[in-house]
Amino acid sequence: GMKCGIVGLPNVGKSTLFNAITEVGAGAENYPFCTIDPNMGIVKVPDKRLEVLTEIINPQETTPTAIEFVDIAGLVKGASDGEGLGNKFLSHIREVDAIIHVVRCFEDSDITHVEGDIDPLRDIGTINTELILADLETVENKIEKTERMLKSGEKKYKEEMEVLEKIKTALDNGQPARNVELSSKEKERIRDCHLLTLKPTLYVANVSEDEIGKEESRHVQAIRNHAASEEAEVITVSAEVEAEVAELSTTEEELFLEELGIEESGLDKLIKAGYKLLGLITFFTAGPKEVRAWTVKKGSTAPEAAGKIHTDMQKGFIRAEVVTYDKLVEAGSFADARDEGVLRVEGKDYIIQDGDVCYFRFNV
Ligand code: GDP
Repeated sequence: GMKCGIVGLPNVGKSTLFNAITEVGAGAENYPFCTIDPNMGIVKVPDKRLEVLTEIINPQETTPTAIEFVDIAGLVKGASDGEGLGNKFLSHIREVDAIIHVVRCFEDSDITHVEGDIDPLRDIGTINTELILADLETVENKIEKTERMLKSGEKKYKEEMEVLEKIKTALDNGQPARNVELSSKEKERIRDCHLLTLKPTLYVANVSEDEIGKEESRHVQAIRNHAASEEAEVITVSAEVEAEVAELSTTEEELFLEELGIEESGLDKLIKAGYKLLGLITFFTAGPKEVRAWTVKKGSTAPEAAGKIHTDMQKGFIRAEVVTYDKLVEAGSFADARDEGVLRVEGKDYIIQDGDVCYFRFNV
């Protein structure tokens, strides 16, 4: 599955947030190395459309789609030199598909800040520097290898070298590799480097409870300015509030959020943003037995989507009957949509769109 890794300095609220997201106990203690091993959790992706489809179709079962979150602890200054649990930590980041970077904005004299005071830009710099240094080592090693291969005269090594040099220049200037504009072909050339700073990233500003629903502090604004320079998204949450919300029933949660004057919990916002960051979209199947949300990578074809349900469906794919979510809601059921002629018949080259409700025809 596709994974979002949660990173950040110690004591910024990663575990608190991760526990709230997954409702799994990972032990949030006031201690830098309390979560040594990466903690993984499968998380349901909240989707209002699934609730609506369930209401109108009234199936026996409703199944949401899910993504994986990993709590990656242990990053401190010097991690790229093996400080703390540096190398182990970095290898865990290599395995995730996107990065959620938690930054501490809340003030609390009881919770030690590893650098002494609250300074989001300095903290972002500390983490990003470690990731950039790790990538620099990877890129320099790769350049050495590629240099030897250049003698073969093969064009692909020349191309690879050009991409590596471009990225090295950015890293040397303290820029993450994702700031370098690369074509998909160029990205392919260096894919086996698994660069940390090439992964899509979003920032989470962890603010204190009393800041929720208020004007943003200068700390949050500083993060926004930084994120803008990377074209990254920023989500504001209070990890402690989210931990409380995670324990409430749906009705209690609605009341609680209303009291705080917010529409959606920070967790729901974060899970959805993580989903988007991973480049994922949702399609649905909707029958009397089950209404279900499925995940595919943006750009997937109809047979690939069918393959998410069953490999036989992909192998024996004949066609897909597709109706957009809005049209299905208007029609009231898949059968009505068919009768009303709003169902489209799509072939094997059709690219699945977010919100498509699909019925796949296949040979067994
Ligand atoms: P991690 O090291 O980044 O995983 O940080 P933790 O999630 O373990 O949090 C460290 C400490 O900060 C814990 O005692 C949390 O209860 C506390 N903490 C986390 N988020 C908040 C917050 O939004 N406000 C306050 N006041 N404390 C928080």
